[in-house]
Amino acid sequence: DLTNPELESDAELAYEGALRPKTLKEFVGQTKVRGQLELLLKAASMQNRTPDHILLAGPPGLGKTTLAMIVAQESAQPLRMSSGPAIQHAGDLAAVLSSLIPGEVLFIDEIHRMARSAEEMLYLAMEDYRIDIMVGKGAGATSVPLELSPFTLVGATTRSGLLPNPLRDRFGFTAHLEFYDTSELEQVLRRAAALLGLEIEREALAEIATRSRGTPRIANRLLRRVRDYALVHGTGPTLAAVRAALELYDVDALGLDRLDREVMTTILTRFSGGPVGLNTLAVSVGEEAETIEAVVEPFLVRIGLITRTPRGRVATRTAWDHFGIERSQDGSL
Ligand code: ATP
Repeated sequence: DLTNPELESDAELAYEGALRPKTLKEFVGQTKVRGQLELLLKAASMQNRTPDHILLAGPPGLGKTTLAMIVAQESAQPLRMSSGPAIQHAGDLAAVLSSLIPGEVLFIDEIHRMARSAEEMLYLAMEDYRIDIMVGKGAGATSVPLELSPFTLVGATTRSGLLPNPLRDRFGFTAHLEFYDTSELEQVLRRAAALLGLEIEREALAEIATRSRGTPRIANRLLRRVRDYALVHGTGPTLAAVRAALELYDVDALGLDRLDREVMTTILTRFSGGPVGLNTLAVSVGEEAETIEAVVEPFLVRIGLITRTPRGRVATRTAWDHFGIERSQDGSL
């Protein structure tokens, strides 16, 4: 699925690696977050200490992993990568924490999926660079304190709301990543095209940008398909080639993906435009409520296809028009 914001394959991982900006300066857009991070890193470096822990929040594909790598790069420290789902027991976390070298940057992706027992261990580690390890079992068990090297935790989450407050409070800074606007995506694409040695006109880039769902990952992915199309058809990456390639892959004018479209048509046809509650909607499309809320909805709201009301999600006039569906009864918007 070309417009799925989640990472799809190992091949894509390698492709993304090649296109990843290495410094804050090269990182396109997110001006606010960039400035905030720059200040935080600079202050730490002037005081010769490890930077504060950083939480990166936002939908998939907007650059959280990239920023974690940049934090390590800019502070000239090694980076250790882990993820919430890989930390199923406190022991998994203890193994990682106790092997960190001084100053190391620890990246935990999907940190909201970490086991509860590990979360509690992390509080202490973040605050005091110390953990308590349980030795032995049952009545004879004792807890042994273990000193850790100072480190910087960079956590990433699509759902900062799911993090327990004590964990959220221990981050010195939370960066909220926003969807990119078209001109920013054009910059992402121009940079990627240059790295790929692809000569492509501005209108062609702009067309890809408008259909990239506000997401650099998707922009880069569409660029690759356009490159394939131009190669196979011997046309060069023209605007016509972009349009033909995107049509071939069912990427519509707004860049909606399969799930976006399913959510929208469900609201429009099964619920007459809404309002419909999150859980009802999730059950109707057979997806987890968490995915609908963290991945699908923010984009649909951002481009004005739905609004959130206290009674549920409501389709806007733009939505009816985009999907070309006639309202069977008078909608509320
Ligand atoms: P996930 O939630 O799946 O971990 P993510 O938010 O960590 O996604 P990244 O892996 O950092 O996203 O970025 C996806 C791709 O988009 C990478 O190829 C990266 O190079 C590119 N990218 C992301 N943000 C930017 C940016 N600001 N400028 C240029 N390229 C970017």
